Amino acid sequence: MFNLIDISLLGCGGGMPMPNRNLSSLFINYRGRKILIDCGEGTQVTIRKMGLGFKAIDLILITHFHGDHIVGLPGLLSTIGNSGREHPLTIVGPIGIINVVNSLRVIAPYLPYDLNIIENPTKLYLNLKKDILQIDTSEKSDLVLKTIELEHSAICLGYSLYFKRKKKFDINKATNMNVPKILWNKLQKEEKIVYKGIRYDYTMVLGEERKGIKLSFITDTRPLSNICNFIKDSDLFICEGTYGDDNDIDKAIKNKHMTFREAATLAKDGEVKEMLLTHFSPAMINPNEYLENATEVFNNVTIGEDEIIKTLKFT
Ligand SMILES: [Zn+2]
Ligand SMILES: [Zn+2]
Repeated sequence: MFNLIDISLLGCGGGMPMPNRNLSSLFINYRGRKILIDCGEGTQVTIRKMGLGFKAIDLILITHFHGDHIVGLPGLLSTIGNSGREHPLTIVGPIGIINVVNSLRVIAPYLPYDLNIIENPTKLYLNLKKDILQIDTSEKSDLVLKTIELEHSAICLGYSLYFKRKKKFDINKATNMNVPKILWNKLQKEEKIVYKGIRYDYTMVLGEERKGIKLSFITDTRPLSNICNFIKDSDLFICEGTYGDDNDIDKAIKNKHMTFREAATLAKDGEVKEMLLTHFSPAMINPNEYLENATEVFNNVTIGEDEIIKTLKFT
């Protein structure tokens, strides 16, 4: 599992769960710790079906308060409780999330762990500990989360996650800088040390910055121009494509969603590596029919399917 990030699209539907299509929700496994984005009705069923596990879910990100993105939350929180979790769990969402979660908890009042609810942060740093992904104030984090305000019929947030890659230990540099061997291990963990009156820090033993992995999740919005900058250079851009047919543009404008072509234009302008389309309208039976509307604009598109898995590696 080292250096791997597994992304599972639990479902690809928008609006309502259908017999053959789950609601759009994303499950991220980052070295054994889990992050969920959105939690519509039935989300926990798919998590169980795919054997992804409940206990290690440390962070739940909610885009907005429409039912197809949040109705599954109280049931999931209860199930996480039944899994034996005791560490606190963090929920992030738009303004109002504290009130919404507390209201939903009327039907899930007893949880054996604490909830930490964060409203509308622009940026959060997260550190990977042995048994929890923990929010940290230090920029020396393993993971950086950012949000963007979208344009939908409810207050809605988009998310990006940047998984940093650890710098390599540079033996030549450490030797040239006369860093005693006894300190190497500690300095590799990015600590600063005073030893025999001399100050040492990690920059004396670590190599250059290395490119990490960027993941962005944009759903339930019109294609705002500042989304391009927000998703810039993503390795994987997960985006709503509620309507495949170009002729549905009026519906997309009215209901504050996007067509495949609009989503693909964001992917192209944001210079992402790959786009995964999701959140299909229940009226669209076969999204693959409209694939060309996206690929005419941006080449590397996958049409989402329930339970699709993507593995991202540091390159
Ligand atoms: Zn939706
Ligand atoms: Zn919505």
